[in-house]
Amino acid sequence: MKKLMVGNWKMNKTVKDCAEFFEIFNKGFTEKCEAWIASQAIHFPLVEELKTTSTKAGLQNCSEHVEGAYTGEISPRALRDMNGHFVILGHSERRQYFGETSRSLNAKIRTALKEGLAVIYCVGETLPEREAGHTLSLIEDQLHQGLNDQSLATAENLIIAYEPVWAIGTGKTASPAQAQEVHAHIRQMLKNKYPSFGDKTRILYGGSVKPDNVTELLAQKDIDGGLVGGASLKAKDFLALCGDK
Ligand code: PEP
Repeated sequence: MKKLMVGNWKMNKTVKDCAEFFEIFNKGFTEKCEAWIASQAIHFPLVEELKTTSTKAGLQNCSEHVEGAYTGEISPRALRDMNGHFVILGHSERRQYFGETSRSLNAKIRTALKEGLAVIYCVGETLPEREAGHTLSLIEDQLHQGLNDQSLATAENLIIAYEPVWAIGTGKTASPAQAQEVHAHIRQMLKNKYPSFGDKTRILYGGSVKPDNVTELLAQKDIDGGLVGGASLKAKDFLALCGDK
């Protein structure tokens, strides 16, 4: 299976920046891996228009509700209706700044899957949690709570991203061995939870992935791709992460 590289643009870029990114990316991308882009919601139609069909577009958050009186929220149904392919849920910035918890994310995951979106569910520990030796038990809790009773999950529509919080946007990357240890644990949990497809569920690594560390990370047995912030903003860097020049 091809590796999956997901760019999380966070709250960045202008219309001009988006156009410049795809001008370069579309020319260089040779589909050695799958490439997905999560833009700001306001730029979604623009990204849909600028990208080629081989690149998939999605968002960084959505509501647990499909429609109604929820001022300012993003409807997963509207996202799917606009041809959105996926949504990132549970990013550590959402957990840290917007009070999202694995329990509240459980409802968002359920609605997004029901509406036909693929979900990238993010889990990961902070530095104090790692130093206290709680990494694996914390990830277990995040997975149990977020994935509890998700009967619509399949190998295609559920993707897990392991993102150690201490490695996001800091320039510090988990070593390939540190990442693989957690990915192997997640793999085992997924196999137990979903005997028919847990071994095929994609598990992405995220946390300061860059062109100079991506090869070693992707060489690990249970790392199926990357969720990338900073290095996805420049088309040349994102192309390099996708194995292109
Ligand atoms: C992220 O935002 O998911 C991320 C991993 O960011 P960065 O690559 O910049 O560490």
